[in-house]
Amino acid sequence: MNSASLFTRAQQLIPGGVNSPVRAFRSVGGAPFFTKSAKGAILTTADGRELIDFVCTWGPAIHGHNHPRIKAAIAAALENGTSFGTPNPYEVEMAELIVKFFPSIQKVRLCSSGTEATMSAIRLARGFKKRDKIIKFAGCYHGHSDSLLIKAGSGALTHGNPDSAGVPASFARETVVLPYNDPSALEAAFAANPGQIACVILEPYCGNVGFIQPDAGYLHSVRQLTARHGALLIFDEVMTGFRLARGGVQELEKITPDLTCLGKIIGGGLPVGAFGGRADIMDHLAPLGPVYQAGTLSGNPLAMAAGIESLKMLDELDPYARLDALGRQVRDAVSAAAKAKGLAVQAPQAGSMFSFFFTPTPVRDLATAMTSDAKLFARFFHACLDGGVYLPPSAYEACFLSTAHEGAAVDRACEVMTKAIQSL
Ligand SMILES: *Cc1c(COP(=O)(O)O)cnc(C)c1O
Repeated sequence: MNSASLFTRAQQLIPGGVNSPVRAFRSVGGAPFFTKSAKGAILTTADGRELIDFVCTWGPAIHGHNHPRIKAAIAAALENGTSFGTPNPYEVEMAELIVKFFPSIQKVRLCSSGTEATMSAIRLARGFKKRDKIIKFAGCYHGHSDSLLIKAGSGALTHGNPDSAGVPASFARETVVLPYNDPSALEAAFAANPGQIACVILEPYCGNVGFIQPDAGYLHSVRQLTARHGALLIFDEVMTGFRLARGGVQELEKITPDLTCLGKIIGGGLPVGAFGGRADIMDHLAPLGPVYQAGTLSGNPLAMAAGIESLKMLDELDPYARLDALGRQVRDAVSAAAKAKGLAVQAPQAGSMFSFFFTPTPVRDLATAMTSDAKLFARFFHACLDGGVYLPPSAYEACFLSTAHEGAAVDRACEVMTKAIQSL
């Protein structure tokens, strides 16, 4: 079964042939490949091609694919059973690890996806503050729940409908959307909605509109304004948690949010999410408090085992300086090739996250990200893919590296990407 015939079958049975829209290659054109297996930095397609993977399953695979230690941890857990429907020892170990690395998190609730984590954190903030409105930022993606799927970047942006159909206007009215990196817009929104904002949620470094970092001092302004107006600050670190530092962006930027959402890496490649923060807020969750949240497979033993092993390896190996060197190597190679070609490319990078915007405009929010030439990105994407390097199939997604990319894979990728730039 090759990718083309699998995609034909899939399209008859699954809307668009995919179970998550960006996988469909709509914004770069062409048909997606199907992956048969993955190991280290390499995906093997159903057609037998080997590709250097810069998507890393959209973030989780920080140790590379199918790492022997994570595999062994899952196998050991499997011996004991796949799901119990009662508390299990792995959940306690996972909670201890999260609390250890995120000092802002005193208590944590585990769930099965990042979407659940952000949706539940928002409900908790509303229940705790007894206020209905929330603030989010254009281009920040927090999963696909109703309140948050408004100007949400990522797949929604790629497909040209930043506001999804099916979200009632009455729900959307409770979500105030502001430009990222603009403290005065936030100040004005608080002034316009006095005593009504339950929380402000953001990706402290944006990774779902391409990669965007905050201006110096911006996150501190957000922290000060939320505190002054009695709104909770929620850091959505589903992508950045354990990727840029063990303690996420909040460790790097020395900010203490009230609540934090996690996912991706903490599942080691299996489905997991988590949200946590101040104990007095978290204790508003059922069964202690009035805010309901639940999950049949929450704290699933296999997912916990995979995630625990992933986090332990990060603790032991402290790979962040190495990952940053890899990220810089790729950024510098592409930037140099673009410069030689006279092509304007913005290549923001921190650690193992980066992206390429084909624009002369420095990118600092959704509006400037949209100045990127998406058609040129699509040509770059396909030139890389033809050369054996798989980038995220959208101009508005971040690239990821893993420790498994070190050495030959990243050297080869830089050659391919340099040639791809030259071919544009
Ligand atoms: C991926 C992501 C989510 C959603 O997580 P899912 O597991 O896909 O539901 C939420 N927030 C951010 C910042 C993400 O990158």
